[in-house]
Amino acid sequence: MDHGRRLRRLQALVAESKLDFLLVTHLPNVRYLSGFTGSAAALLMSSEGATVFTDGRYIAQARQEVQAARVVIDSKAPALAAAEWLLGQGNGGRRGSSRPSRTLGVEAEWMTVAGRDRLASVLRGKAKVRPAPGWVEQARMVKDAGEIQRIREAVRLGASLFGIAKKTIRPGVREYEVAAAMEYEARRQGAEGMSFPTILASGPRSAIVHGRASDARIPRRGFVVCDFGVILAGYCSDRTRTVHVGRPSKEGRSLYAAVLEAQECAIAAVRAGVTAGEVDEAARGVLRERKLARWFTHSTGHGLGLEIHEQPRVAAGQRQKLEPGMVVTIEPGAYVPGEWGVRIEDVVVVTASGCEVLTPTEKDLVVIEA
Ligand code: ZN
Ligand code: ZN
Repeated sequence: MDHGRRLRRLQALVAESKLDFLLVTHLPNVRYLSGFTGSAAALLMSSEGATVFTDGRYIAQARQEVQAARVVIDSKAPALAAAEWLLGQGNGGRRGSSRPSRTLGVEAEWMTVAGRDRLASVLRGKAKVRPAPGWVEQARMVKDAGEIQRIREAVRLGASLFGIAKKTIRPGVREYEVAAAMEYEARRQGAEGMSFPTILASGPRSAIVHGRASDARIPRRGFVVCDFGVILAGYCSDRTRTVHVGRPSKEGRSLYAAVLEAQECAIAAVRAGVTAGEVDEAARGVLRERKLARWFTHSTGHGLGLEIHEQPRVAAGQRQKLEPGMVVTIEPGAYVPGEWGVRIEDVVVVTASGCEVLTPTEKDLVVIEA
């Protein structure tokens, strides 16, 4: 990971803007720019360089992880330590300097009202606080080769958990038992954790889009939606497979076939230069033809990387153009409340001429004999 390059790119954006400083407080953004993985940090960027602020718990870790920025250890909250440091800097130590007030950009999406007030009270009017554009999120949309490699490995590990699900899903087994077996296997293979609480939704619960594994027992007949992901070396995976316990009805099979066709059409639509909205429409159009569009109640996909949900959003009307190196999920679904639901999800890397599906596997309907 070339953090020096990432910092220099951001520094150039700050230099061209009306801001004198940029305060990065969203921890995944701090990690992206500096490599620091601690749970308390802020990064202050100016035309002179970057400084990471953290507290005494992280002295050794910060020295080890942060190569391209200065490190300041302070017992105060990192953002406030950065604000105090800023006051000491630009003034050249002169009190009552005639220098015009400076402008500090903050990550408005990630700062609370109380956090902004505390920052302003430390700055005492000597620097204005302004919302900064989402520069770091924009930079993070396009992954470099090292990031794609990490996501590739996370997806490979994540994909292997479906084998555990297929072995464990049986009528009468509780949903959380299946999730537990998958999560144990993930940790056993070296995952740092799951990228979100495992979704295991069986029978009528399969119609709940985010049906976290519950104590419900898997019924003798019906769909089971399994949506799961791991974090490996900081990067997330995300995958959904839907299986059917017992013999599926004709309607069940055709629901599954429609969602699969929607997913494959959307994957076929992914290529550099198309908009995220066009990819969404490729999936939605298939379900519309099948009179299922009203049951497709979420967007087609999302970016992922250091976080499970990142930009770009693959949703209706999104005008963001896809670029080579963007990594997004493609996950249409159809859910009939109280009855059933199906979702199929893969992670793809955008290329100039199309996309690469990470760890492609068979997607024909898996039927588990009851
Ligand atoms: Zn998912
Ligand atoms: Zn997803």
